[in-house]
Amino acid sequence: MSIATQIQSLRNELREHNYKYYVLDSPTIDDFEFDMKLKELQELEAKHPEFFDPNSPSLRVGGEITKNFQTVVHEHRMYSLDNSYSKEDLLDWEKRIEKIIDGTVEFVCELKYDGASISLTYENGTLVRAVTRGDGTQGDDVTANVKTIKSVPLQLKGDYPEKFEIRGEIVLPYEGFHKMNEERLEAGEEPYRNPRNTASGSLKLQDSAEVAKRPLECLLYGIVGRNLAFSTQYDSLESARQMGFKVPEAAKLTKSVDEVLKFIEYWDVHRHNLPYETDGVVVKVNSLQQQEELGYTAKAPRWAMAYKFKAEQVSTRLNEITYQVGRTGAITPVANLEPVELAGTTVKRASLHNADQIEKLDIREGDEVYVEKGGEIIPKIIAVDLSKRPSDSQPTHYITHCPECQTELVREEGDAKHYCPNYNGCKPQIIGRIQHYISRKAMDIEGLGGETVALLVNEGLISDYSDLYGLNKEVILPLERMAEKSAENLIKGIEASKKIPFERVLFALGIRYVGETVAKKLAKHFKNIDAIAIASTEDLVAVDEIGERIAESVVDFFSSEENKALIDKLKLNGLQLELSAEKLANQTDKLKGLSIVVSGVFETVSRTELKKLIEDNGGKVSSSISSKTNYVVAGANMGPSKQKKAESLKIPILSEQEFLEIVK
Ligand code: AMP
Ligand code: ZN
Repeated sequence: MSIATQIQSLRNELREHNYKYYVLDSPTIDDFEFDMKLKELQELEAKHPEFFDPNSPSLRVGGEITKNFQTVVHEHRMYSLDNSYSKEDLLDWEKRIEKIIDGTVEFVCELKYDGASISLTYENGTLVRAVTRGDGTQGDDVTANVKTIKSVPLQLKGDYPEKFEIRGEIVLPYEGFHKMNEERLEAGEEPYRNPRNTASGSLKLQDSAEVAKRPLECLLYGIVGRNLAFSTQYDSLESARQMGFKVPEAAKLTKSVDEVLKFIEYWDVHRHNLPYETDGVVVKVNSLQQQEELGYTAKAPRWAMAYKFKAEQVSTRLNEITYQVGRTGAITPVANLEPVELAGTTVKRASLHNADQIEKLDIREGDEVYVEKGGEIIPKIIAVDLSKRPSDSQPTHYITHCPECQTELVREEGDAKHYCPNYNGCKPQIIGRIQHYISRKAMDIEGLGGETVALLVNEGLISDYSDLYGLNKEVILPLERMAEKSAENLIKGIEASKKIPFERVLFALGIRYVGETVAKKLAKHFKNIDAIAIASTEDLVAVDEIGERIAESVVDFFSSEENKALIDKLKLNGLQLELSAEKLANQTDKLKGLSIVVSGVFETVSRTELKKLIEDNGGKVSSSISSKTNYVVAGANMGPSKQKKAESLKIPILSEQEFLEIVK
């Protein structure tokens, strides 16, 4: 088999497996097999750059950076939809249609997915452009980011029109959304509010490799173009499925508004079982010819109508406002409610977010409040029923002191939250930090759970994570529910954590804003804890992707005497506080102090690999050319403006080969 055929057949195979996994949700091989095949393809492609294909399944991991998203005028305008809220609204709409159309009208009912609208353009079966809705007339070109979404086919199957646009919604399923939030919480960051905003925010990230990590999906609902091979909306959906698009199966062909209402009733309940958010139903006239006759108003098609589900809402009594202290000291006010049924679950608590939120809605204890469940993790209070406010009601005074340690709270400018500054003396902060330290992604201490940590702290046996290393079986055996075996396991688990690699120890320390990724970056750049401890804000922001906020937090952490003592104690106990020799071996100082810009398309290495090479050799990757740039590594198709800029600043341009020679 020739190399070209081999590459082609691997690409086809991987494409098919992607399709089965991400579009049909029914994979036929396991992840390991898939990864092996992908690796095989990547190796062949690296050896044979002459067969480069921008739509190869190997490029799904992203890496392309978009600094400014180009504005693109939609060839066909992306209209909004008229809304309806009742049976009467829908019957009125049907009457308006009957005035224009002779004969019977069929309707297609679809779910209204709640995400970010997208328009995909395909030419000769390949994806050429993905554009956001924007204002409907023009949107942003987000192709590089959309290409990383695995359910978006880069290459179509079967028969397809030569050129067409297909529209859909990019959504973030709940599961992935919750996972992303868990990671943010672990890093001490505010969780994202809801999947919809997170989905649309993702499309505008500059680094497509970041987008690739987010579990986004693209659900399609409409084809636009000339000389299409179908004559109804319903058939267009089926034909989109044949081409390899993900088109939800819920779509239904109906013959009357009564049937439409049945569809709505059904999904108003069952939408809660879907993996992603929906906020209504879209009813469309099925015949494309009738659609054309009906045409558009200034804002929306006359042939379609959205029906909005009522957001699930109930009213209940707010019994008490309590305040929680997180591991970073952040205070979160919580509404304790009279338990009430909402969207299939019993709700007892709702988030009040912060002091401003309470003040804005004038929420008070004893109030009857309206609670709503949207895409948020916990329900929220949207209004107070003032007519039911008790006559002796008192305005809420936000706490001024920590409910746990009575220290006066602080609120920094521009911060919505209050914080308890008693870093080393506030129980929930102490417990929270140790719980974070032992968690799975950090030190992963087997045999030790969150509750035991609380017990150990409350019994006065430990007061920070370095104290864990002073524990022995005899001290912990007297603890409640602690058997011989579990005590042994606990000590074993603590001992084993001394082998956990540096980057994870760094993450485990619980420095604010230092999540898993940041910890890796810092570990790699500075190589050991002492170098990080003496780094200045400037040193820190010089590291790729480390911003001011993170830098300040790191400096802050290491300026505390208590933290210095803590680190010393970890050192004494033999924890990994520097990169392992093995990791160091792959790194050099060849590019030390050099700021390098990467531009264009590369043949033998991916952009991500190229950046890794620069960093591993001590250099810094920066995204734009300035007088501080030392080199530009240019692949094919380097942008003309970058080229000009590099030339005018007399910055040497290296070819891919020249660069690889240097770091070899
Ligand atoms: P609106 O933003 O309320 O004007 O509603 C229009 C938006 O609904 C469109 O831009 C689409 O992105 C979105 N939408 C979600 N699901 C569908 C669907 N099945 N058919 C048409 N539009 C949909
Ligand atoms: Zn406190």
